[in-house]
Amino acid sequence: MIPGNMQEHGFNLVSIIKHAARWHGHVEVVTNKVEGGIHRINYADLYDRVKKLANALDKLGLKSGDRIGTMAWNSWRHLECWYAIAGKGSICHTLNPRLFPDQLDYIVNHAENRFLVVDTTFLPVIANVIDRLKTVEGIIVLTSKDNMPDTSGFKIPVHCYEEMIKDEPSTYDWPTLDENAASSLCYTSGTTGNPKGVLYSHRSNMIHAMVSGGADIFNMTACDSFLMIVPMFHANSWGLSFGVPMIGGKLVMTGPHMDGASVYKLMTEEKCTVSGAVPTVWTGLLDYLDANDLKIPHLRETFIGGSAVPRSMIERFDKDYGVQVIQAWGMTEMSPLGTINRPLPFWDELSYEERMAVRCKQGRPAFYVDMKIVDDDGNELPRDGVAFGRLLVKGPFIVERYYKMEESALDDDGWFDTGDVANIDQYGIMQITDRAKDVIKSGGEWISSVDIENTAVGHPELNIAACIGVKHEKWEERPLLVAVKQEGCDPSKQSILDLVASEHAKWQVPDDVIFIEEMPLTATGKIDKKPLRAKYENFYS
Ligand code: ADP
Repeated sequence: MIPGNMQEHGFNLVSIIKHAARWHGHVEVVTNKVEGGIHRINYADLYDRVKKLANALDKLGLKSGDRIGTMAWNSWRHLECWYAIAGKGSICHTLNPRLFPDQLDYIVNHAENRFLVVDTTFLPVIANVIDRLKTVEGIIVLTSKDNMPDTSGFKIPVHCYEEMIKDEPSTYDWPTLDENAASSLCYTSGTTGNPKGVLYSHRSNMIHAMVSGGADIFNMTACDSFLMIVPMFHANSWGLSFGVPMIGGKLVMTGPHMDGASVYKLMTEEKCTVSGAVPTVWTGLLDYLDANDLKIPHLRETFIGGSAVPRSMIERFDKDYGVQVIQAWGMTEMSPLGTINRPLPFWDELSYEERMAVRCKQGRPAFYVDMKIVDDDGNELPRDGVAFGRLLVKGPFIVERYYKMEESALDDDGWFDTGDVANIDQYGIMQITDRAKDVIKSGGEWISSVDIENTAVGHPELNIAACIGVKHEKWEERPLLVAVKQEGCDPSKQSILDLVASEHAKWQVPDDVIFIEEMPLTATGKIDKKPLRAKYENFYS
C-alpha cells in the first residue's frame, strides 16, 4: 500500500461545534425554555460553554468511556452536554422520559451511568426510580440557581448546571480520539424484550452528519432556520444535533412545548424554513392552523418519519400551506437515516395520482446505506415495486451489535434485519408495507396494516387509527380497525369501512371498527399495538 500524503486529522465530534463557532459564530440557537420564554445564544458563545462544561465534568471525575445519562428536552444546554460529553471522550446516553419506570432503571443500570443530567421537569421521574439506580453517583440539573428546585430528598449530590460551569475556563484541550471511539448511546424502545442499546461512534455520527447534509437528503444550507422538533432523546435526534451546526444553520428548539399553538408561534417568530418531526406532532400543528385560519409562509419543507406518513397529511401541507413534505425512513439502529423520498426526473411525467402514490413511499437510500429485500429463505427479491419481503440493510452508520451483547446483530453476510417488510421499485424507491410483527395474515394472504391505517385516517372525522390482526376461525386472522374519533365528531363505522373499501380489495377491509377514547402510544410516540392485540385478540371468536 502506498499511503496518501494528506494531513492526519483525528476524529472528534466536537470539531462540528468548533467549526460552527469559528465560521458561523453569530448564528443563533434558539430555545423555547422549560420555564417559558425564549432563550438565544450564538454558536460562538455556546461553544465557550461547551468547554466550560467539559472542565466541570472533569472535576467531577468523569473519565473517557464513562456513560453520562441525559433526560432532557431539546435545548441549548442539552446540546452543550452532547458536545462536551462526547468531546471529552465520555459517552452521552440519551434517556427517553416516556419510558416506563422498569425500563428506565433497566437502561440506566445496564448502561452503568455514573451521572444523570436532568431537566427540572424530569426530576420527579428520576426521584421515582433513584433507589434502584445502582451506579449513579450524582445528578446535574439543567437550570440556573434561581430555578433550582428543592432536591433535598436525593441522597446523592445534586448540582446546578449553571453554577457548576460558571467559573470554569472557556478553554479545553480536546483529546484526539480513535475514530471508532464511542460517542453516544441510545436504547430502542424495546417493543419485545428488554430495550437494546445502540452505541454510536464519533466516526458513525460524523459520516451520518456529512451524508445527511446533502441536497438530496436534508437539503439544508446556512440560509436555513431549522426547527428541530424531533426530541434529542429519540433516535439520535435524527442526527440533526450534529447535521445543523455542521452546515451553520440556525437551530430552533421547542423545549417541552410541542403542541400546535407553541410550534406555530415558535416557527413563525423564528422564520423557520425547514423542520422534522413524527406525524403525530404535525397533526397537532395542522389542526391548530385549520382551527385558527393561520398560514406558515416561511416553512419550505418538512421531513416526516418515524411512522408512515398518511397521504392526507402530505396533501394538507401541500395544498393548504404550500409546504413540501419529504418522507424519511430510518431507525435508532441506523443513526437513524435509511431512506428519504426526494424527487427524481421521472416524477415530472406522472399524473397527480401517480405522483402521490410515489410520494407516499419511504424513498431511496442515502449514500452508505445499502439495502435489499429477501424472502423467508433469505433469497433476494426483485426490485419491481411488487415483490415484498424482509428489509435488510448494511453500512457504516448501522449497528453491528447491541451494547454489551456478545453476538453480532448481523447475518453471516453482514446484513442487519430491520424488522420491516418492504418492496423496492425499479427506481430504487423503497416502500414499507409493514413491520414484520404487524403484518396481518388472512387466509394465506398478507394485509398491510400500514396501508389500511393510512387510508382510514384520511377520514375527516377520525383522529388516529390502528389496524391489528385478530384471531379468526376460518381465515386465521382478520383485520380489526381500532380508532379514536376527532374531537366533537361521531363518524359511522360504515363510512370508515366504505372509505377503506374505496382503495383496497374487499378481503383487506377490516371486519369491524372499534372506537376508543385514547390510543396507546409507545415511548417514542408511535401507536403501541401490543395492548390492543392483547385486549381484542378474541374479538372475532
Ligand atoms: P422504536 O422502534 O423505538 O420506535 P425507531 O424510531 O428506531 O424506534 O423505530 C424505527 C422503526 O420505525 C422502523 O423500523 C419502522 O418500522 C418505523 N418507521 C420509521 N420511519 C418510518 C416511515 N417513514 N414509514 C413507516 N415506518 C417507519
